[in-house]
Amino acid sequence: VYVLKVRSSFDAAHSITGHPGPCARLHGHRYDVEAEFGGGALDSLGMVRDFDALKKALSEVLPDHQNLNDVMDCVTTVENISRWLYDRLLAQGLPVLAVTVWETETCGCRYTPE
Ligand SMILES: [Zn+2]
Repeated sequence: VYVLKVRSSFDAAHSITGHPGPCARLHGHRYDVEAEFGGGALDSLGMVRDFDALKKALSEVLPDHQNLNDVMDCVTTVENISRWLYDRLLAQGLPVLAVTVWETETCGCRYTPE
């Protein structure tokens, strides 16, 4: 199977209600995102999917300059953000395998359903 990877980023605000530390207060991150798409067959151009189409699809689902607490109906941890993005890409009919979201340079989460 071929696994294509597309990276992007977005800026957003959030707060984690009930968190014992400063994450309970409204603050912002530049989230880095990596989406992985898979396929076992190549088209006549030797591609699983055109990268331009995947980049466009990813950019359309990123909640850039939003308050994540307003757009997500769950706690806005990086675990839930990665799954939320995965579900939105899947809903577009894309062969998404996993989504990784980095909240800082050293802390992130990769969601895959398996
Ligand atoms: Zn945070």
